[in-house]
Order: sequence, then C-alpha cells, then structure tokens
Amino acid sequence: MGWLQRAIAAPIHVHLNRYDNADPLHAANRDWLRFQDGLSVTDSVDELAQAVLAAAPTFDPSTGLRRVGGTGDADTLLEPPRFCPVCGRRVAVVVTPRSVRARCRLHGEF
Ligand SMILES: [Zn+2]
Repeated sequence: MGWLQRAIAAPIHVHLNRYDNADPLHAANRDWLRFQDGLSVTDSVDELAQAVLAAAPTFDPSTGLRRVGGTGDADTLLEPPRFCPVCGRRVAVVVTPRSVRARCRLHGEF
C-alpha cells in the first residue's frame, strides 16, 4: 500500500459504508486494512465526519492563510477575525463596544 500512498501524496482514508459488525469477514477485512495496510478506516458516518473535519485545512482568521498548527500569536487574538477559519474567505465583521460578530457567507456566524 505504500506505493499508492506515495503516488497520491495525500492521506488515504477508507470508509466501509456497508460495514456489519456482526459479520466476521467484515471485521477481518477492517482489521486487515487497519493493521496490515496501515490505513485510516472508519465504519460509521460519525467517525467519517470526525476524520474529514480533522483532515480539513484551517485558516488563520487574521490573515486568511492556511494554518499549519497552533492557535496564532497573542497579538492577533485581540483583533477581530477578518477571514473564516474554515474556508479562508473574508468575513463580514460587526464590532460594537460589547461584542464582535463575524459572519462567513458559507459557514455563518462564529
Ligand atoms: Zn467560511
């Protein structure tokens, strides 16, 4: 499976959409994919959603650049967000003396 991982150059995730936990063949196939091939495997929609969200890129709310890790500088945490952390698009920001509201056109208020 290493050749496939190198050819794609992206993480491979396998979702077993008709997985039956009571079927020993299904369990054996899942374990083979996980432990022999070393793949990330899910068998429920909730696990799949978590895996997709964990693998999705995030964006710095101050610069809109793709975030590699961490939560940003302390100085930028005091500034209102200018970009959506999910998609990196510019957000509409409303600043009042008591609150800051930012709204992405696609992802709503955050
Ligand atoms: Zn967004």
